[in-house]
Amino acid sequence: MEKSKKLFAEAQEIIPGGVNSPVRAARSVGGEPVFVDHGRGARLFDVDGKSYLDFVSSWGPLICGHAAPWVLHAVEEAAKKGTSFGAPTEAETTLARLIRKHYPAMEMVRLVNSGTEAGMSAIRLARGFTGRDKIVKFQGCYHGHADSLLVSAGSGVATLGIPGCPGIPAALAELTLTVPYNDADALEKTFKKHGDSIAAVIVEPVAGNMGVVPPQPEFLPAIDRLCKEYGALFICDEVITGFRLSLGGASAYYDLKPDLTMLGKIIGGGLPLAAFGGRREVMEKLAPVGGVYQAGTLSGNPLAVAAGIAAVEYLAGSSVYARLRQSSRQWADGLLALAREHGVPACGNRVESMSTLFFTEGPVTDYDSALKSDTAMYGAFWRGMLERGVWLAPSQFEASFVSAGMIPDDIETALDAAAATFKALKK
Ligand SMILES: *Cc1c(COP(=O)(O)O)cnc(C)c1O
Repeated sequence: MEKSKKLFAEAQEIIPGGVNSPVRAARSVGGEPVFVDHGRGARLFDVDGKSYLDFVSSWGPLICGHAAPWVLHAVEEAAKKGTSFGAPTEAETTLARLIRKHYPAMEMVRLVNSGTEAGMSAIRLARGFTGRDKIVKFQGCYHGHADSLLVSAGSGVATLGIPGCPGIPAALAELTLTVPYNDADALEKTFKKHGDSIAAVIVEPVAGNMGVVPPQPEFLPAIDRLCKEYGALFICDEVITGFRLSLGGASAYYDLKPDLTMLGKIIGGGLPLAAFGGRREVMEKLAPVGGVYQAGTLSGNPLAVAAGIAAVEYLAGSSVYARLRQSSRQWADGLLALAREHGVPACGNRVESMSTLFFTEGPVTDYDSALKSDTAMYGAFWRGMLERGVWLAPSQFEASFVSAGMIPDDIETALDAAAATFKALKK
């Protein structure tokens, strides 16, 4: 850890907290960031030469594993032609079509650079289309760090326990109504009260930013029904679930037809790329066709688009989802069994290749029940796993992702580390 420590000290002097995204600082788990040298397949290698089995996968994007040869090749070939033009390329249409093929509700697609941009733009578009100002989000869901969407947010906001974020005008925050996840009745009440001023409901179809919380069977259909009834748009934030739960994401998995969909993470193949899209009549409100302005100097960047196409084509052309499901089940079931064996109060949530072991008896069905987790115990677990060569998200309120780079032996190795860590925790 010596070199990491030195680099972290240097970084802190010039970069706030030493990191360019807060959760990376590992403060809530009582740790310090490991500085990365490189990644390969299922493993991350730090600057001190130690390697880790990686269950963070760059927070979701690396479903193909680190430095997947087909992604690298695509990026190399694209880079030879130039790295940015600020003018359209054929590949952007290719990727947009690939997206629509698997997400038919995305009749039109716009490419952006991050999930935050996708969320921010989708909200603006929904407001512009409906002529209404209010939006509804669910407590503990994270949709990027745009002003309107940071209210009761998950991810780093949950990890750091930030109640309201300084810098967000109260007048704007008031336009964001929040409802507990999985609570269709509360959503209905909110619509009864504010129905004619709600532009959109935005949801993570499987929550991943308060730890993994699956939707209860009636929840997503209720959102769809209420949005239709009151003329609000249903925005499905598939930034994590897109190309993760299945090729068609949560939309295919749960048979959803959202008005707008956000994609990110996996569709960039590990480069900065995201997208939003949906019904033609809504998307045609966007500039330059319509008046809702949205733009980006590097949007549709050729390297990111090439990486995205390579990643999606790989996912479409292999039996990867069956393998991921298998590995994820082995990992999540194995962890829960070990926790129980060692008398650690725990429960597990998993949907396909995203899972969370919560350090609470559970069940965890929403943000309040997630918050019952023993985060100090999670911190000790995280530190123990790190020491034993397993890289987990440095927060209880995140998902654990397996990647196609992992083989059953890797999962066994990680579970051995978990057994040793649980054993040490009890002492
Ligand atoms: C990560 C994430 C975002 C934000 O994406 P960034 O690329 O980090 O801006 C939005 N929504 C969900 C569900 C996410 O997990």
